[in-house]
Amino acid sequence: MKDCIFCKIMKAEIPAKKIYEDDVVIAILDINPVVEGHVLIIPKEHFDNFYSIPDSILLHVYDVARKLSKEIVSKLNKTGITLQINQGYTLVNHFHMHLLPDYETPKLEKTVDEIYEILK
Ligand code: AMP
Ligand code: ZN
Repeated sequence: MKDCIFCKIMKAEIPAKKIYEDDVVIAILDINPVVEGHVLIIPKEHFDNFYSIPDSILLHVYDVARKLSKEIVSKLNKTGITLQINQGYTLVNHFHMHLLPDYETPKLEKTVDEIYEILK
């Protein structure tokens, strides 16, 4: 898609630090990492978001996420990893999954009971 930064990366019109590629996805280092080893898994084909990506491609993204997670945690000597998909407030409107090694959980402002009262 025109003017999509990730489509431009697919076409090598802008550079990226690629750590994995197959027929369906690439994985690159995030340009503005929130943790060491912040990786993005991006389908080669443009899908706007989590709601529009086909099931088969989403499943493949998860397969690759599992494979890469093991490698990233091992090679960077991390404890674990968080998989994150943003929906509705994305910076880049081309579906992608974040891999976040040793991601620190944000501090909570509401208790579980308070959240339960709101969501039940
Ligand atoms: P979001 O759309 O909020 O899920 O996040 C988009 C992510 O893409 C952010 O973490 C950005 O730092 C990252 N990003 C944006 N442009 C590039 C780029 N050219 N290369 C690598 N990562 C990028
Ligand atoms: Zn795109």
